[in-house]
Amino acid sequence: PGRNVLIVYAHQEPKSMNGSLKDIVVDVMSKQGCNVVVSDLYTMKFNAAATRNDITGDLCNPQHFSYGIETKEAFKKGCLCEDILEEQRKVHDADLVILQFPLYWFSFPAIMKGWIDRVFVQGFAFDFPGCYETGLLKGKKALLSFTTGGTEEMFSKEGASGDIRYLLWPIQHGIMHFCGFQVLSPQISYAPEYVSEVKRKEMLMNWAQRLENIWEEPPIDCTPPWYFQ
Ligand code: FAD
Ligand code: ZN
Repeated sequence: PGRNVLIVYAHQEPKSMNGSLKDIVVDVMSKQGCNVVVSDLYTMKFNAAATRNDITGDLCNPQHFSYGIETKEAFKKGCLCEDILEEQRKVHDADLVILQFPLYWFSFPAIMKGWIDRVFVQGFAFDFPGCYETGLLKGKKALLSFTTGGTEEMFSKEGASGDIRYLLWPIQHGIMHFCGFQVLSPQISYAPEYVSEVKRKEMLMNWAQRLENIWEEPPIDCTPPWYFQ
C-alpha cells in the first residue's frame, strides 16, 4: 500500500512485447494501490550522452574535464541539469525500480545505459565508502525485465550464447547492487518474435501473476556464485 514503482522503459514501439510488459506493470501495480511512474526514454528523447552540459554554472577544473568529479560536485551544489534532477527525484521516491528493455548486444539499449551514466551520479547513487551493501540507494529493490532475440536454449550454459546470468553480472551486480539496491530475480521473456501468440500471452500472464506478490519476494544472493557457478 502506497508503494512507489519506477519503470525505466526503453522501447520505440508501444505495441511491442516490451510495451505490453510495461503496460502490465502499470495495470497490476496501480490496482494494488501503488504509485507507478514511467520514464519512457525514447518518447522523452532522453539524452544519453554524458557531457559538460550536464553541469550548470562553473566547472571545478575547466582545464581538464572529468565527468565523474564535475557531476559529483554539481550534485552537492545542486548544479546538475534539470533532466538529471528529475530522474534522480523519481529514483529517490521509488521503492522498486524496474528496467524494461529488449536485449541489445548482450546488454541494454544505449539510451538506457545513458540514463544510468547520467542519473546514478556519485554522491546520489553511490560514494566511497557507500557502495554495495552501503550503496546510497539501499532499501530499494531493482528488477530487470527484458526480452531477447535468442531462445532460452541458446542462453543456457551449454548453449551458443552461454548462461543468461553471465550477462546479468555487469548490470545487476556492477550497477544495481553497487548502488545498494536489493536485486530481485530477472523477468526474462525469451524470443517473443519467434514463439507463438499463445506462448506470448503466457509470458505476459506469468509476469502479471508474479507482480501480484512482488513485494514479498526475497532478493537474489547477488554474489559471484549466483552468476558463474
Ligand atoms: P516485438 O517484435 O515488438 O514483439 C514480438 C511480438 O510480440 C510481435 O509480434 C508483437 O505483435 C507481439 N506482441 C506484443 N504485445 C503483445 C501482446 N500483448 N500479446 C501478444 N503478442 C504481443 N537478441 C539477443 O538475444 N541478443 C542480443 O545480443 C541482441 N542484440 C540486439 C541488438 C540490436 C541493436 C537489436 C535491434 C536487437 C538485438 N537483439 C538481440 C534482438 C532483440 O533483443 C529482440 O528483437 C527483442 O528483445 C524483441 O522484443 P520486442 O519487444 O522488440 O519484440
Ligand atoms: Zn551483487
